[in-house]
Amino acid sequence: MALYGLTIHELQAMLAGRHVSAVELTRAVLDRIAAVEDRVRAYITLDPEGALQQAAAADKKLGAGSGGPLCGIPFSIKDVLCTDGLRTTCGSRILENFVPPYDATAIVKLKQAGAVLLGKVSMDEFAMGSTSENCAFGPPHNPWNTAYICGGSSGGSAASVAADECIASLGTDTGGSIRQPASHCGVVGLKPTYGRVSRYGLVAFASSLDQAGPLTKDVTDCALVMNAISGHDPRDSTSVEREVPDFCRSLQDGLGGMKVGIPKEYFIEGLDPEVEKAVMGGIRHLREAGAEIVEVSLPHTDYCVAVYYLVAPAEASSNLARYDGVRYGLRDTSADTLLDMYRDSRSAGFGPEVKRRILIGTYALSSGYYDAYYKKASQVRTLITEDFKRAFAACDLLASPVTPTPAWKLAAKVDDPLSVYLSDILTISANLTGIPAISVPCGFSGAGLPIGLQLQAAHFNEEKLFRAAYNLEQRLDISRLRPANL
Ligand code: GLN
Repeated sequence: MALYGLTIHELQAMLAGRHVSAVELTRAVLDRIAAVEDRVRAYITLDPEGALQQAAAADKKLGAGSGGPLCGIPFSIKDVLCTDGLRTTCGSRILENFVPPYDATAIVKLKQAGAVLLGKVSMDEFAMGSTSENCAFGPPHNPWNTAYICGGSSGGSAASVAADECIASLGTDTGGSIRQPASHCGVVGLKPTYGRVSRYGLVAFASSLDQAGPLTKDVTDCALVMNAISGHDPRDSTSVEREVPDFCRSLQDGLGGMKVGIPKEYFIEGLDPEVEKAVMGGIRHLREAGAEIVEVSLPHTDYCVAVYYLVAPAEASSNLARYDGVRYGLRDTSADTLLDMYRDSRSAGFGPEVKRRILIGTYALSSGYYDAYYKKASQVRTLITEDFKRAFAACDLLASPVTPTPAWKLAAKVDDPLSVYLSDILTISANLTGIPAISVPCGFSGAGLPIGLQLQAAHFNEEKLFRAAYNLEQRLDISRLRPANL
């Protein structure tokens, strides 16, 4: 297989043994990008010179035997994580020319582990969306069929991994944005427990929901990236002081003694039969690997979308107030007054979905409506959290689809935001409750588009997710399949 098609764990040995250099590997991935990027369009900013410099530095360390665990591995980074000296747009015109003066903590940690940063990848503007079509610089295309969406908001991350335009990627997940594109593009994606990975330098969308995490070619790589980016950060007061295990440690343990719950409310009308079939097939494999399958109930599932689409826009309306044309980002210079400058900068800089969220969020927080909307949503959020606590008293993991349908055609739903919001129903509760969740490939639709299986666990139980996902991956043996026509 070509170098760019290999996984981190395969490349680690080759790099450490000096069978291949980091510069050779980086060049191979850059050549791959040059060959397919006009069809995939995953990158907003590519930094070939910077990447080759980092690769040369990695080679020095590898030569001296002092390289970190990701030494020389080329990564793509969702354009919402701040990168020192490298433009960070958040997929928005308002930050089109914003070059951060510092690295996000997750980026610092990747660099400390030796990773090579290739560039910044496409996303829905400020991570608001499920298709990546809300990106101001055009959407990425699904590598399995370029007429289709690759999901979102970390669509560029998922597409770049699936198209072998990087070895691994970092994305962020506020309501499914790592897991849903991972599912649509046939790669592995993990949303860690809230607090596991520092949010410092992650441009905020909804601060009580946002988490950064890996998108990778297989489960082992996902665990390796988590080893590098997890841990307490004094710069993020919501990051948790808790020991980080070696997430690779128990991958190969079987599933004997593990109870996997099937939430009955997740297998409902509207679930695509092909998705149901693939996911049920995956669940059968979990049983054959030794897990006991039990039915569980999450009675407040029906309220998740409504709660999320109040809480997330409310937090967004507050977080996005900082884009005022004064401190950074786009400024309208033709206005005569300060207020006009604020209004014109924001009108020109934000796209329609971001404006819609700011309107909803500002309304939900306004005096007289706060109790009816934001407060009520927060109370129902607690009820949803209680549902999950009860479920995890009866089982170790929850298995379900990631999304109700496979990817749809580009532009098919751009005029129907509500139906796009509804498609988030199976992913948003992990963010509302803060639990970890993973998407792992489990099959394909008749049209050849990937389908993912979601596993969710109680807080800080990522190891259980990895163990079950690894067992599934070994049995299905589809994670190495790549789009044939690319
Ligand atoms: N699709 C959801 C939204 O539009 C989730 C996005 C995300 O996780 N960043 O808000």
